[in-house]
Amino acid sequence: MKLTRALVFALLCAIFAFAIGQKPGVEPGDNLVRFNLIQINDVYEITPVSKEGGMAKIATVYNSYKQVNPNTFMVIAGDFFSPSALGTARVDGERLAGKQMVAMLNAIPLYLATFGNHEFDVNEAQFGQRMEESKFGWVSSNVWNAQGTALPKTEMNRIQVIESGEQQVRVGYFGVTIPSNPAKYVTYTDFMEAASKQVKELRPKVDVLIAITHLAYEDDIKIARAFPEIDMIIGGHEHEMHRIEIASLPGIYKADANARSVFVHEFGFDPITRKLQKKSTLRRLTADIPEDPTVKTEVDKWVKIAFDAFRKDGFNPEAKVADVPIALDGSEASVRNKPTELAKIIAEGMLAAAPGSEIAIYNGGSIRIDDTIQPGELTEYDVIRILPFGGKIVSIKIKGAYLKRILAQGIANKGQGGYLQTAGVTYNGDQPLYKGAAIEDGRDYSIAISDFLLTGNEQNLGWLKKDGNPDITVVQTHEDIRNATIAELKRRFGN
Ligand SMILES: [Zn+2]
Repeated sequence: MKLTRALVFALLCAIFAFAIGQKPGVEPGDNLVRFNLIQINDVYEITPVSKEGGMAKIATVYNSYKQVNPNTFMVIAGDFFSPSALGTARVDGERLAGKQMVAMLNAIPLYLATFGNHEFDVNEAQFGQRMEESKFGWVSSNVWNAQGTALPKTEMNRIQVIESGEQQVRVGYFGVTIPSNPAKYVTYTDFMEAASKQVKELRPKVDVLIAITHLAYEDDIKIARAFPEIDMIIGGHEHEMHRIEIASLPGIYKADANARSVFVHEFGFDPITRKLQKKSTLRRLTADIPEDPTVKTEVDKWVKIAFDAFRKDGFNPEAKVADVPIALDGSEASVRNKPTELAKIIAEGMLAAAPGSEIAIYNGGSIRIDDTIQPGELTEYDVIRILPFGGKIVSIKIKGAYLKRILAQGIANKGQGGYLQTAGVTYNGDQPLYKGAAIEDGRDYSIAISDFLLTGNEQNLGWLKKDGNPDITVVQTHEDIRNATIAELKRRFGN
């Protein structure tokens, strides 16, 4: 059985290698020093999502190039410690918090990373552990610790000497990151100044200069225009593929999130003429790309560790919840700005889970999947992916005036995680209504609210804290918001 599977895999790989052609970017028979960079960025899941992507498919592509040219290296342009559903699994009292991702990237293996904003979602202790576990390199020239010095294991830049026969090519890398995640343990300096310094320092020392960036694409364009001496910008942060090639400027490349695609960059450097040839190809990691069996075994190991942890918390990750006939929009751009069908389902589920409640309120930022789930079968694991942090639903009683203050701040938080999603409230312009009528300042309202909002840790909602707050009467604590969502999905779409 094992032999047959191995044989089938070898055959699939051979077909795959043939299918992708393995055509080098430059013709053989010259004196070029050739190397390949395999680019991934914004990878949160280690398994395929809707049969696309996943670590084992990345390994297949990486190995297929590595077999032809040992000078093949993988780089990641940030965003992989978080957010992910697997990362929220509690193992021995500690959340995985990206441990599974670092283990997978070590296994492939990854050569070099830069930070994305989501690397700093994890707490300082977890961040330190992930850095300690990583066997790959880190480059960053604008992110520092709280004291303004280097983060652990992080180099400002790196020069890689790639050898081919008698010849060699020196490749310089530096990394810059968008300063959008103000975690307490990091500080940022200006990425344009950092890039300028790195270009000045590296360009005279290297044959090829690569910027690994995690920036909004407009900022990548700024870097490209300001520093045409860069040979290529390998970027991340946007979740959709970007390929920006402007004559005489460095090309900017971003692959699709979750490795639905990878960019393969093939380089050929002529040490005599010093000319560099480049060819960038987007490879989609579709359902027909075989999974590398060694890496797949490692993926399965981590999925089992996480699923066992979810089972301990009372979930059955593989269990089907419902066949959902509609797409469910959980993208951050939506759920932090407006109600979506998915956001409404969660709020309605809260109302049902807290009997007697008139209105449900939770923060849009608790929806972390940042993706639209296509119609089809939904499992309990998908619900964990939607609401990875979960949390209890709490019934409270508050006056109408206080309710209006909460709702107004929810709207003022538009664009942020503190934008509030609701059920039972409609609007007439800015005026919130309950059952079509204006909310009365002096009347008591029964609210189902997420326990997180009552901690006072939400942006601009510190005053909503339940402890010692005379404006809030806590009535009862109910089940986890994920169980309430599962029940609501079954009510709506179950058979
Ligand atoms: Zn990002």
